[in-house]
Amino acid sequence: MRIIDRSLQTLRLLSVAEVELLRLFIAGKSDAQPELLARVRADHRWLACDCVTPAPVMHVALLDGGRFVLKNNPDAAEHAPGCPFVRTEYDGKNSGGSISHIVPRLQPDSHVALHSEFKGNSMGIAPQISRRNGVGNPRPKALLSLLLSILESAGMDSYSPHRPLTIGEQYAAIRNAAGRFVLKPGIPLDHVLDTRINFQRLVAMSKKLRDTEAFGTLRRYGLLLDVLNKVGPRQLVLDDGSKLNFFGSTEVLHSRSVPLLTLATVASQETGSNYYHLGKVAFVPVLSSRHLFPVVDDKDRENVQEIFALLRWFHEKKQIQVTASRCFFQGGDGYMMALKSGAQLLELDLHPHQLDGLESNSNELSLSAFGSIEGLKKRIVAQLLKGVSRV
Ligand SMILES: [Zn+2]
Repeated sequence: MRIIDRSLQTLRLLSVAEVELLRLFIAGKSDAQPELLARVRADHRWLACDCVTPAPVMHVALLDGGRFVLKNNPDAAEHAPGCPFVRTEYDGKNSGGSISHIVPRLQPDSHVALHSEFKGNSMGIAPQISRRNGVGNPRPKALLSLLLSILESAGMDSYSPHRPLTIGEQYAAIRNAAGRFVLKPGIPLDHVLDTRINFQRLVAMSKKLRDTEAFGTLRRYGLLLDVLNKVGPRQLVLDDGSKLNFFGSTEVLHSRSVPLLTLATVASQETGSNYYHLGKVAFVPVLSSRHLFPVVDDKDRENVQEIFALLRWFHEKKQIQVTASRCFFQGGDGYMMALKSGAQLLELDLHPHQLDGLESNSNELSLSAFGSIEGLKKRIVAQLLKGVSRV
């Protein structure tokens, strides 16, 4: 194993002891994070494994829980079979090898383009506005990026039974978070966002778009957000059974398992048209219509309900406060969740049938290793109570 720079030049060989520390850490047999990983990352270096030529190249990634992992560079060679680093994660994938759901996180105050400008419509204003300001063509999955960024900023990625939020408070947090993003120069997102989807709100938004001078000659669009229990290929089905068609693309996080938190643009289809429709739509499956915590699919929703019921039990019966969080921007299949109680951190992988699941070491527990949610819950109880008695 060698430390290399980004032009793949060798800087130095690791000692046998250093390789052994890495191997134990990667295999989950040691909890001590080798200091080497922090240094390699801080120095923007990579590691090359000598199990095969050309050498597989790995970088050090930092997970949200503060844990370092080694990841194979996406374009690098595969390790030799039997190499202890063969189980290193591939960038953007998890060990299940499924496609990546990663969408980029948007920084607050950054402008986001959701629809392309009509040709020839921004003449005269274009010179003052750089494409980097987001006024140009939308990036792939820009609407989903925006939705996830708003939800994260609103704190929808975590749940604390001792500080539960009503659904009204959740929507208020979302509207507040939306105000930190900017749709176009001079137009904070919350000015053109409504947290209901129905025909009346569509009409009201259309009027608002026609009346908002700040758009100038730029294409006008706004956003409607709501939780829906039924969607079709080209339409949203509202709870009263009425339907609203949309003309643009659909961007989905993980699955279309209902209830779906839905963000739809309101836009016109032609230059100069004052006739607005629903345009693009982004979907995120959520725990329930009263709790906008992200889930992957139907089965995952059941499992998350089970874990949350357990956290309420900790709060009510044991006076132990546990906070669950699930990163909206995690790689892989989206099943990872962290439980935090005081200084204790448990990482859960709720993938129901991960063939190559994490070996369950002291602070990483995988559902597939326990075989059932009941087994996993028992282990969480044992683990968290043990942590409390140690204090
Ligand atoms: Zn190797």
